[in-house]
Amino acid sequence: DTDINIQHDGCLNVWKITNGNRYLDTGRLLSEYFGTKQLLLREIQFISEFEGIVLRFMYEVSEDDLLAYAFYNKKEYIPDAGITLNATIQNLDSEVLAGKEFTIYKGDSEIIFGLNKKIKKKGTYSAEISGAGPYTSKAEFTFQYIFNSINKGAFIKNKTPVYSGIYNGSIIKNAKAKRRYHCVAKGSGWYRIKFSDGTTGYIKKNNNISLSDSAIGNVVNIYDSKYSYADMSRDIKKMAKIYQDVMELSVLASTADNNKVYCARLGNAGAKKKIIIHSAMHAREWLNSQLVMKMLERCCKYYYSEKYNGVLYSNLFKNVCFYIIPMFNPDGVNISQYGLAKIKSKSLRNIVRRFGKGRYSRWKANARGVDLNRNFSVGFRKDTARGTKRGSEGYSGPYACSERETKAFVNLVNRIKPKAVINYHEAGRVIYYTRSSALLNLVRQKTGYRTVRESISGANGSLGDYLTRKGIAWCTPETCSGTAPVSHSQFYYEWRKHRDMLPAVAKLYR
Ligand SMILES: [Zn+2]
Repeated sequence: DTDINIQHDGCLNVWKITNGNRYLDTGRLLSEYFGTKQLLLREIQFISEFEGIVLRFMYEVSEDDLLAYAFYNKKEYIPDAGITLNATIQNLDSEVLAGKEFTIYKGDSEIIFGLNKKIKKKGTYSAEISGAGPYTSKAEFTFQYIFNSINKGAFIKNKTPVYSGIYNGSIIKNAKAKRRYHCVAKGSGWYRIKFSDGTTGYIKKNNNISLSDSAIGNVVNIYDSKYSYADMSRDIKKMAKIYQDVMELSVLASTADNNKVYCARLGNAGAKKKIIIHSAMHAREWLNSQLVMKMLERCCKYYYSEKYNGVLYSNLFKNVCFYIIPMFNPDGVNISQYGLAKIKSKSLRNIVRRFGKGRYSRWKANARGVDLNRNFSVGFRKDTARGTKRGSEGYSGPYACSERETKAFVNLVNRIKPKAVINYHEAGRVIYYTRSSALLNLVRQKTGYRTVRESISGANGSLGDYLTRKGIAWCTPETCSGTAPVSHSQFYYEWRKHRDMLPAVAKLYR
Protein backbone atom coordinates (compact mmCIF):
# COMPACT_ATOMS: atom_id res chain seq x y z
CA ASP A 1 0.00 0.00 0.00
CA THR A 2 1.67 3.19 -1.12
CA ASP A 3 -1.15 5.54 -0.23
CA ILE A 4 0.94 7.45 2.22
CA ASN A 5 0.16 10.98 3.23
CA ILE A 6 2.63 13.07 5.17
CA GLN A 7 1.49 16.42 6.43
CA HIS A 8 3.22 19.11 8.33
CA ASP A 9 1.79 22.23 9.85
CA GLY A 10 4.70 24.28 8.66
CA CYS A 11 5.47 26.11 11.88
CA LEU A 12 5.16 23.91 14.96
CA ASN A 13 7.18 21.01 13.58
CA VAL A 14 4.37 18.55 14.32
CA TRP A 15 4.12 15.65 11.92
CA LYS A 16 0.93 13.82 11.13
CA ILE A 17 1.40 10.66 9.19
CA THR A 18 -1.47 8.59 7.91
CA ASN A 19 -1.62 5.57 5.71
CA GLY A 20 -5.25 4.71 5.09
CA ASN A 21 -5.80 4.70 8.88
CA ARG A 22 -3.40 1.77 9.19
CA TYR A 23 -0.71 2.13 11.82
CA LEU A 24 2.92 2.19 10.71
CA ASP A 25 5.93 3.22 12.72
CA THR A 26 7.58 6.24 11.20
CA GLY A 27 10.85 4.49 10.42
CA ARG A 28 9.13 1.83 8.36
CA LEU A 29 6.90 4.37 6.75
CA LEU A 30 9.85 6.43 5.55
CA SER A 31 11.67 3.33 4.39
CA GLU A 32 8.70 2.50 2.26
CA TYR A 33 8.39 6.04 1.11
CA PHE A 34 11.96 6.39 -0.06
CA GLY A 35 12.06 2.80 -1.15
CA THR A 36 9.45 3.39 -3.76
CA LYS A 37 10.27 6.97 -4.57
CA GLN A 38 14.00 7.20 -4.24
CA LEU A 39 15.70 9.74 -6.41
CA LEU A 40 16.78 7.50 -9.21
CA LEU A 41 19.23 8.84 -11.71
CA ARG A 42 17.44 9.03 -14.98
CA GLU A 43 20.23 10.10 -17.23
CA ILE A 44 23.91 10.87 -17.18
CA GLN A 45 25.19 13.00 -19.97
CA PHE A 46 28.76 13.86 -20.72
CA ILE A 47 28.60 17.25 -22.33
CA SER A 48 32.17 18.12 -23.08
CA GLU A 49 35.53 18.25 -21.42
CA PHE A 50 34.76 21.89 -20.71
CA GLU A 51 31.23 21.61 -19.41
CA GLY A 52 31.40 18.31 -17.59
CA ILE A 53 28.84 15.66 -16.70
CA VAL A 54 25.16 16.33 -16.14
CA LEU A 55 23.19 14.05 -13.81
CA ARG A 56 19.41 14.15 -14.24
CA PHE A 57 16.83 12.61 -11.91
CA MET A 58 13.92 10.49 -12.90
CA TYR A 59 11.12 12.57 -11.51
CA GLU A 60 10.23 15.99 -10.25
CA VAL A 61 10.77 16.67 -6.57
CA SER A 62 7.35 17.06 -4.96
CA GLU A 63 6.03 18.71 -1.85
CA ASP A 64 5.70 15.26 -0.25
CA ASP A 65 9.35 14.51 -0.94
CA LEU A 66 10.38 17.69 0.79
CA LEU A 67 8.22 16.86 3.80
CA ALA A 68 9.51 13.33 4.09
CA TYR A 69 13.06 14.50 3.66
CA ALA A 70 12.70 17.08 6.43
CA PHE A 71 11.11 14.52 8.69
CA TYR A 72 13.77 11.91 8.06
CA ASN A 73 16.54 14.39 8.82
CA LYS A 74 14.72 15.79 11.86
CA LYS A 75 14.82 19.22 10.26
CA GLU A 76 12.22 21.88 10.25
CA TYR A 77 10.17 21.80 7.12
CA ILE A 78 10.76 24.82 4.93
CA PRO A 79 8.81 24.57 1.65
CA ASP A 80 11.50 26.16 -0.53
CA ALA A 81 14.53 24.66 1.20
CA GLY A 82 15.01 21.83 -1.26
CA ILE A 83 16.67 18.50 -0.64
CA THR A 84 20.38 18.44 0.04
CA LEU A 85 22.11 15.35 -1.27
CA ASN A 86 25.59 14.06 -1.89
CA ALA A 87 26.75 13.04 -5.30
CA THR A 88 29.95 11.18 -6.04
CA ILE A 89 31.64 9.86 -9.13
CA GLN A 90 33.65 6.68 -8.65
CA ASN A 91 35.78 4.45 -10.78
CA LEU A 92 35.17 0.71 -10.95
CA ASP A 93 37.48 0.17 -7.96
CA SER A 94 35.08 2.33 -5.89
CA GLU A 95 37.65 5.06 -5.59
CA VAL A 96 35.88 8.39 -5.24
CA LEU A 97 37.12 10.73 -7.97
CA ALA A 98 34.82 13.65 -7.39
CA GLY A 99 32.09 14.50 -4.98
CA LYS A 100 29.88 17.34 -4.04
CA GLU A 101 26.93 18.30 -1.94
CA PHE A 102 24.09 19.87 -3.82
CA THR A 103 20.50 20.90 -3.28
CA ILE A 104 17.63 20.11 -5.57
CA TYR A 105 14.36 21.94 -5.57
CA LYS A 106 10.84 21.28 -6.74
CA GLY A 107 10.67 20.74 -10.46
CA ASP A 108 13.08 19.07 -12.85
CA SER A 109 16.43 18.54 -11.23
CA GLU A 110 19.93 18.09 -12.44
CA ILE A 111 23.46 18.84 -11.37
CA ILE A 112 26.60 19.40 -13.36
CA PHE A 113 29.98 17.93 -12.48
CA GLY A 114 32.97 19.76 -13.86
CA LEU A 115 35.61 17.30 -14.95
CA ASN A 116 38.82 17.03 -12.99
CA LYS A 117 42.00 15.33 -14.13
CA LYS A 118 40.93 11.95 -12.81
CA ILE A 119 37.65 11.90 -14.69
CA LYS A 120 39.13 13.28 -17.87
CA LYS A 121 39.95 9.80 -19.08
CA LYS A 122 38.12 7.33 -21.21
CA GLY A 123 36.54 4.68 -18.99
CA THR A 124 33.58 3.41 -17.02
CA TYR A 125 32.49 5.19 -13.88
CA SER A 126 29.58 5.10 -11.50
CA ALA A 127 27.61 8.00 -10.15
CA GLU A 128 26.04 7.72 -6.72
CA ILE A 129 23.45 9.88 -5.02
CA SER A 130 22.83 9.57 -1.30
CA GLY A 131 21.12 11.53 1.44
CA ALA A 132 17.41 10.93 0.86
CA GLY A 133 16.66 8.32 3.46
CA PRO A 134 18.56 5.06 3.84
CA TYR A 135 18.78 4.49 0.12
CA THR A 136 21.28 5.46 -2.47
CA SER A 137 20.82 5.70 -6.17
CA LYS A 138 23.53 4.40 -8.43
CA ALA A 139 24.16 4.33 -12.12
CA GLU A 140 27.04 3.30 -14.29
CA PHE A 141 28.23 5.22 -17.28
CA THR A 142 31.04 5.10 -19.78
CA PHE A 143 32.39 7.96 -21.75
CA GLN A 144 35.09 8.93 -24.10
CA TYR A 145 36.07 12.36 -25.28
CA ILE A 146 33.51 14.14 -27.33
CA PHE A 147 35.72 17.15 -27.83
CA ASN A 148 39.26 16.93 -29.07
CA SER A 149 41.57 19.80 -28.53
CA ILE A 150 42.66 21.39 -31.79
CA ASN A 151 44.42 24.65 -32.41
CA LYS A 152 43.32 26.16 -35.67
CA GLY A 153 41.91 29.25 -37.22
CA ALA A 154 38.34 28.86 -38.45
CA PHE A 155 36.61 30.96 -41.06
CA ILE A 156 32.90 30.95 -40.41
CA LYS A 157 29.99 32.07 -42.52
CA ASN A 158 28.59 35.48 -41.69
CA LYS A 159 25.97 35.57 -38.91
CA THR A 160 26.60 32.01 -37.79
CA PRO A 161 25.21 31.87 -34.24
CA VAL A 162 27.72 31.31 -31.45
CA TYR A 163 26.33 29.56 -28.37
CA SER A 164 27.44 29.87 -24.78
CA GLY A 165 27.34 26.09 -24.42
CA ILE A 166 26.18 22.99 -26.22
CA TYR A 167 23.84 22.00 -23.51
CA ASN A 168 21.12 24.58 -22.86
CA GLY A 169 23.35 27.15 -24.54
CA SER A 170 22.00 30.52 -25.47
CA ILE A 171 23.21 32.50 -28.46
CA ILE A 172 25.86 34.90 -27.22
CA LYS A 173 26.76 36.54 -30.52
CA ASN A 174 26.89 36.05 -34.23
CA ALA A 175 30.07 35.36 -36.14
CA LYS A 176 31.06 38.00 -38.67
CA ALA A 177 32.13 37.51 -42.25
CA LYS A 178 35.79 37.47 -43.30
CA ARG A 179 37.00 37.10 -39.75
CA ARG A 180 39.04 34.23 -38.48
CA TYR A 181 38.19 32.77 -35.12
CA HIS A 182 40.52 30.74 -32.97
CA CYS A 183 39.14 27.21 -32.97
CA VAL A 184 40.34 25.46 -29.82
CA ALA A 185 38.42 22.16 -29.96
CA LYS A 186 36.09 20.12 -32.09
CA GLY A 187 33.57 17.45 -31.32
CA SER A 188 30.84 15.64 -33.17
CA GLY A 189 28.72 18.41 -34.56
CA TRP A 190 30.39 21.29 -32.73
CA TYR A 191 33.40 23.55 -32.69
CA ARG A 192 34.55 25.46 -29.67
CA ILE A 193 35.92 28.85 -30.65
CA LYS A 194 37.71 31.57 -28.77
CA PHE A 195 37.09 35.27 -29.22
CA SER A 196 39.84 37.86 -29.20
CA ASP A 197 38.74 38.98 -25.72
CA GLY A 198 39.52 35.48 -24.42
CA THR A 199 35.92 34.29 -23.99
CA THR A 200 34.75 31.15 -25.76
CA GLY A 201 31.63 29.86 -27.46
CA TYR A 202 30.31 27.00 -29.56
CA ILE A 203 29.29 26.87 -33.18
CA LYS A 204 27.51 24.06 -34.97
CA LYS A 205 29.52 22.33 -37.63
CA ASN A 206 28.31 22.74 -41.15
CA ASN A 207 29.67 23.21 -44.62
CA ASN A 208 30.16 26.92 -44.09
CA ILE A 209 33.12 26.52 -41.77
CA SER A 210 36.60 26.33 -43.16
CA LEU A 211 39.68 25.47 -41.17
CA SER A 212 41.90 26.07 -44.15
CA ASP A 213 44.63 28.74 -44.28
CA SER A 214 43.81 29.39 -47.90
CA ALA A 215 40.26 30.51 -47.16
CA ILE A 216 41.48 34.10 -47.32
CA GLY A 217 43.71 35.41 -50.07
CA ASN A 218 46.72 37.66 -49.73
CA VAL A 219 46.26 41.13 -48.33
CA VAL A 220 49.65 42.72 -48.95
CA ASN A 221 50.50 42.96 -52.63
CA ILE A 222 54.22 42.35 -52.95
CA TYR A 223 54.17 43.33 -56.63
CA ASP A 224 53.09 46.87 -55.82
CA SER A 225 56.27 48.81 -56.62
CA LYS A 226 55.20 51.89 -54.64
CA TYR A 227 53.72 50.66 -51.40
CA SER A 228 52.21 53.80 -49.92
CA TYR A 229 50.79 55.01 -46.63
CA ALA A 230 47.29 54.54 -48.07
CA ASP A 231 48.14 50.95 -49.09
CA MET A 232 49.62 50.16 -45.70
CA SER A 233 46.71 51.62 -43.69
CA ARG A 234 44.14 49.82 -45.84
CA ASP A 235 46.00 46.50 -45.53
CA ILE A 236 46.74 46.66 -41.83
CA LYS A 237 43.08 47.43 -41.01
CA LYS A 238 41.94 44.59 -43.22
CA MET A 239 44.37 42.17 -41.59
CA ALA A 240 43.29 43.23 -38.11
CA LYS A 241 39.73 42.26 -39.05
CA ILE A 242 40.54 38.98 -40.74
CA TYR A 243 43.10 37.86 -38.21
CA GLN A 244 41.38 39.22 -35.13
CA ASP A 245 42.26 35.97 -33.37
CA VAL A 246 45.99 36.69 -33.38
CA MET A 247 46.48 40.36 -34.14
CA GLU A 248 45.30 43.62 -32.66
CA LEU A 249 45.67 47.04 -34.20
CA SER A 250 46.24 50.27 -32.35
CA VAL A 251 47.19 53.81 -33.28
CA LEU A 252 50.36 54.95 -31.55
CA ALA A 253 50.14 58.55 -32.69
CA SER A 254 48.52 60.96 -35.07
CA THR A 255 51.16 62.83 -37.00
CA ALA A 256 51.50 66.56 -37.63
CA ASP A 257 49.78 66.05 -41.00
CA ASN A 258 47.04 63.99 -39.36
CA ASN A 259 48.15 60.55 -40.54
CA LYS A 260 48.30 57.56 -38.23
CA VAL A 261 51.25 55.64 -36.85
CA TYR A 262 49.80 52.13 -36.68
CA CYS A 263 51.03 49.44 -34.37
CA ALA A 264 50.01 45.80 -34.79
CA ARG A 265 50.32 43.46 -31.86
CA LEU A 266 50.98 39.92 -33.02
CA GLY A 267 50.50 37.00 -30.63
CA ASN A 268 49.51 36.66 -27.03
CA ALA A 269 49.05 40.05 -25.34
CA GLY A 270 49.83 38.39 -22.01
CA ALA A 271 53.20 37.04 -23.18
CA LYS A 272 55.98 37.91 -20.77
CA LYS A 273 58.42 38.77 -23.54
CA LYS A 274 57.72 41.59 -25.94
CA ILE A 275 59.62 42.66 -29.03
CA ILE A 276 59.26 45.82 -31.11
CA ILE A 277 59.82 45.82 -34.87
CA HIS A 278 59.56 49.05 -36.83
CA SER A 279 60.40 50.36 -40.26
CA ALA A 280 60.24 53.52 -42.38
CA MET A 281 61.34 55.80 -39.57
CA HIS A 282 63.18 57.47 -42.41
CA ALA A 283 60.78 58.58 -45.12
CA ARG A 284 62.55 57.21 -48.17
CA GLU A 285 62.97 53.71 -46.68
CA TRP A 286 59.40 52.64 -47.45
CA LEU A 287 60.26 49.38 -49.20
CA ASN A 288 60.77 48.03 -45.67
CA SER A 289 57.14 48.85 -44.82
CA GLN A 290 56.01 46.41 -47.48
CA LEU A 291 58.56 43.86 -46.26
CA VAL A 292 57.49 44.11 -42.61
CA MET A 293 53.79 44.08 -43.54
CA LYS A 294 54.30 40.87 -45.50
CA MET A 295 56.23 39.34 -42.59
CA LEU A 296 53.30 40.17 -40.32
CA GLU A 297 50.72 38.80 -42.74
CA ARG A 298 52.60 35.56 -43.16
CA CYS A 299 52.69 35.00 -39.40
CA CYS A 300 48.97 35.73 -39.06
CA LYS A 301 48.00 33.50 -41.94
CA TYR A 302 50.04 30.48 -40.91
CA TYR A 303 49.69 31.05 -37.18
CA TYR A 304 48.20 27.62 -36.53
CA SER A 305 49.86 25.60 -39.25
CA GLU A 306 53.44 26.71 -39.89
CA LYS A 307 56.44 25.76 -37.79
CA TYR A 308 59.81 27.36 -37.26
CA ASN A 309 62.54 24.84 -36.38
CA GLY A 310 59.87 22.35 -35.36
CA VAL A 311 57.81 24.70 -33.17
CA LEU A 312 54.35 25.86 -34.23
CA TYR A 313 53.99 29.60 -34.65
CA SER A 314 51.08 29.52 -32.21
CA ASN A 315 53.41 28.14 -29.54
CA LEU A 316 56.14 30.65 -30.34
CA PHE A 317 53.81 33.65 -30.22
CA LYS A 318 52.20 32.42 -27.02
CA ASN A 319 55.34 33.34 -25.11
CA VAL A 320 56.70 36.14 -27.25
CA CYS A 321 54.52 38.93 -28.50
CA PHE A 322 55.45 41.47 -31.20
CA TYR A 323 54.60 45.13 -31.51
CA ILE A 324 55.03 45.95 -35.16
CA ILE A 325 55.13 49.48 -36.53
CA PRO A 326 55.42 49.08 -40.29
CA MET A 327 55.42 52.81 -41.06
CA PHE A 328 56.94 54.90 -38.29
CA ASN A 329 56.94 58.09 -40.39
CA PRO A 330 53.85 58.16 -42.66
CA ASP A 331 54.05 61.91 -43.38
CA GLY A 332 57.60 61.43 -44.61
CA VAL A 333 56.71 58.42 -46.77
CA ASN A 334 54.02 60.51 -48.46
CA ILE A 335 56.65 63.16 -49.23
CA SER A 336 59.18 60.66 -50.59
CA GLN A 337 56.56 59.05 -52.84
CA TYR A 338 54.33 61.97 -53.83
CA GLY A 339 56.26 65.17 -53.14
CA LEU A 340 53.89 67.92 -52.02
CA ALA A 341 50.77 66.27 -53.44
CA LYS A 342 49.65 64.34 -50.34
CA ILE A 343 50.49 66.92 -47.69
CA LYS A 344 47.25 68.20 -46.22
CA SER A 345 48.57 71.01 -44.04
CA LYS A 346 49.52 74.23 -45.81
CA SER A 347 52.24 75.17 -43.32
CA LEU A 348 53.84 71.71 -43.58
CA ARG A 349 53.71 71.95 -47.35
CA ASN A 350 55.65 75.21 -47.09
CA ILE A 351 58.33 73.60 -44.92
CA VAL A 352 58.71 70.67 -47.30
CA ARG A 353 58.81 72.92 -50.38
CA ARG A 354 61.51 75.06 -48.78
CA PHE A 355 63.79 72.20 -47.72
CA GLY A 356 62.93 69.56 -50.29
CA LYS A 357 64.41 71.60 -53.10
CA GLY A 358 62.47 69.59 -55.64
CA ARG A 359 64.19 66.33 -54.65
CA TYR A 360 61.39 64.94 -52.57
CA SER A 361 62.07 61.24 -53.16
CA ARG A 362 65.25 61.52 -51.05
CA TRP A 363 63.34 63.02 -48.09
CA LYS A 364 64.28 61.34 -44.81
CA ALA A 365 62.70 63.47 -42.05
CA ASN A 366 59.05 63.85 -41.06
CA ALA A 367 56.91 66.62 -42.53
CA ARG A 368 58.21 69.09 -39.93
CA GLY A 369 61.73 68.60 -41.24
CA VAL A 370 62.87 66.66 -38.14
CA ASP A 371 64.98 63.53 -38.52
CA LEU A 372 63.20 61.14 -36.14
CA ASN A 373 66.38 59.14 -35.64
CA ARG A 374 68.04 62.23 -34.13
CA ASN A 375 65.10 63.22 -31.94
CA PHE A 376 65.69 60.83 -29.00
CA SER A 377 67.07 62.03 -25.70
CA VAL A 378 70.43 60.23 -25.42
CA GLY A 379 73.13 62.28 -27.18
CA PHE A 380 70.52 64.76 -28.41
CA ARG A 381 72.03 67.40 -30.75
CA LYS A 382 75.53 65.94 -30.44
CA ASP A 383 75.56 65.29 -34.17
CA THR A 384 77.07 67.55 -36.81
CA ALA A 385 76.19 71.20 -37.31
CA ARG A 386 73.25 70.03 -39.39
CA GLY A 387 71.58 68.79 -36.20
CA THR A 388 70.40 72.29 -35.41
CA LYS A 389 68.95 73.09 -38.82
CA ARG A 390 65.56 71.99 -40.07
CA GLY A 391 65.70 70.02 -43.31
CA SER A 392 65.14 66.82 -45.23
CA GLU A 393 67.55 64.93 -42.97
CA GLY A 394 69.75 65.26 -39.89
CA TYR A 395 67.79 67.88 -37.90
CA SER A 396 67.41 66.83 -34.25
CA GLY A 397 64.32 68.94 -33.61
CA PRO A 398 63.75 71.82 -31.16
CA TYR A 399 64.13 69.52 -28.14
CA ALA A 400 64.37 65.78 -27.42
CA CYS A 401 61.14 63.89 -28.18
CA SER A 402 59.59 67.02 -29.67
CA GLU A 403 57.97 64.86 -32.38
CA ARG A 404 54.75 62.93 -31.87
CA GLU A 405 56.20 59.81 -33.51
CA THR A 406 59.23 59.79 -31.18
CA LYS A 407 57.21 60.52 -28.06
CA ALA A 408 54.73 57.75 -28.90
CA PHE A 409 57.57 55.28 -29.37
CA VAL A 410 59.14 56.16 -26.02
CA ASN A 411 55.74 55.76 -24.37
CA LEU A 412 55.37 52.32 -25.96
CA VAL A 413 58.81 51.27 -24.69
CA ASN A 414 57.95 52.43 -21.17
CA ARG A 415 54.59 50.69 -21.29
CA ILE A 416 55.54 47.26 -22.64
CA LYS A 417 59.23 47.11 -21.61
CA PRO A 418 60.44 45.20 -24.66
CA LYS A 419 63.21 42.62 -24.49
CA ALA A 420 64.49 43.66 -27.89
CA VAL A 421 63.93 46.07 -30.76
CA ILE A 422 64.73 45.65 -34.44
CA ASN A 423 65.08 48.95 -36.31
CA TYR A 424 64.58 48.28 -40.01
CA HIS A 425 66.40 50.84 -42.14
CA GLU A 426 67.81 51.07 -45.68
CA ALA A 427 70.22 50.59 -47.33
CA GLY A 428 73.61 48.86 -47.48
CA ARG A 429 73.04 45.28 -46.25
CA VAL A 430 74.79 45.97 -42.96
CA ILE A 431 73.68 45.70 -39.33
CA TYR A 432 74.47 48.50 -36.90
CA TYR A 433 74.75 47.80 -33.19
CA THR A 434 76.49 49.02 -30.07
CA ARG A 435 76.54 45.90 -27.91
CA SER A 436 76.81 42.35 -29.16
CA SER A 437 73.73 40.25 -28.46
CA ALA A 438 72.02 36.99 -29.34
CA LEU A 439 69.61 39.13 -31.38
CA LEU A 440 72.47 40.56 -33.42
CA ASN A 441 73.87 37.08 -34.06
CA LEU A 442 70.49 35.83 -35.20
CA VAL A 443 69.85 38.72 -37.59
CA ARG A 444 73.37 38.40 -38.98
CA GLN A 445 72.91 34.67 -39.48
CA LYS A 446 69.56 35.10 -41.23
CA THR A 447 70.59 37.96 -43.50
CA GLY A 448 74.29 37.39 -44.10
CA TYR A 449 74.77 41.16 -43.69
CA ARG A 450 78.04 42.59 -42.42
CA THR A 451 77.93 43.98 -38.86
CA VAL A 452 79.13 47.48 -37.99
CA ARG A 453 79.71 48.48 -34.40
CA GLU A 454 78.80 52.02 -33.35
CA SER A 455 80.51 53.56 -30.34
CA ILE A 456 78.35 54.28 -27.31
CA SER A 457 80.24 57.53 -26.69
CA GLY A 458 79.24 58.70 -30.16
CA ALA A 459 75.55 58.89 -29.20
CA ASN A 460 73.68 61.39 -31.38
CA GLY A 461 70.02 61.21 -30.40
CA SER A 462 69.27 58.05 -32.36
CA LEU A 463 66.80 55.43 -31.21
CA GLY A 464 69.69 52.96 -30.88
CA ASP A 465 71.43 55.27 -28.40
CA TYR A 466 68.24 55.53 -26.37
CA LEU A 467 67.81 51.73 -26.33
CA THR A 468 71.44 51.16 -25.36
CA ARG A 469 70.96 53.50 -22.41
CA LYS A 470 67.78 51.61 -21.44
CA GLY A 471 69.64 48.29 -21.58
CA ILE A 472 67.35 46.91 -24.30
CA ALA A 473 68.88 44.63 -26.94
CA TRP A 474 68.64 46.09 -30.44
CA CYS A 475 70.12 46.02 -33.87
CA THR A 476 69.57 48.00 -37.04
CA PRO A 477 69.55 45.94 -40.22
CA GLU A 478 69.94 48.12 -43.30
CA THR A 479 68.20 46.11 -46.01
CA CYS A 480 68.84 46.36 -49.76
CA SER A 481 71.84 47.66 -51.64
CA GLY A 482 72.41 51.12 -53.08
CA THR A 483 70.65 54.13 -51.59
CA ALA A 484 67.02 54.62 -50.60
CA PRO A 485 64.55 54.78 -52.15
CA VAL A 486 65.71 51.54 -53.72
CA SER A 487 64.32 49.78 -56.75
CA HIS A 488 61.40 47.49 -55.96
CA SER A 489 63.19 44.73 -57.83
CA GLN A 490 65.15 44.10 -54.62
CA PHE A 491 62.03 43.06 -52.74
CA TYR A 492 62.18 39.35 -53.35
CA TYR A 493 65.89 39.11 -52.53
CA GLU A 494 65.23 40.71 -49.14
CA TRP A 495 61.99 38.79 -48.57
CA ARG A 496 63.85 35.51 -48.70
CA LYS A 497 66.16 36.67 -45.90
CA HIS A 498 63.55 38.25 -43.67
CA ARG A 499 60.38 36.24 -44.25
CA ASP A 500 60.68 34.20 -41.05
CA MET A 501 62.49 36.78 -38.93
CA LEU A 502 59.55 37.10 -36.52
CA PRO A 503 59.26 33.39 -35.63
CA ALA A 504 63.07 33.18 -35.48
CA VAL A 505 63.23 36.04 -32.97
CA ALA A 506 60.32 34.51 -31.04
CA LYS A 507 62.19 31.21 -30.86
CA LEU A 508 65.26 33.03 -29.57
CA TYR A 509 63.38 34.75 -26.74
CA ARG A 510 60.87 32.03 -25.92
ZN1 LIG B 1 67.20 55.03 -42.05
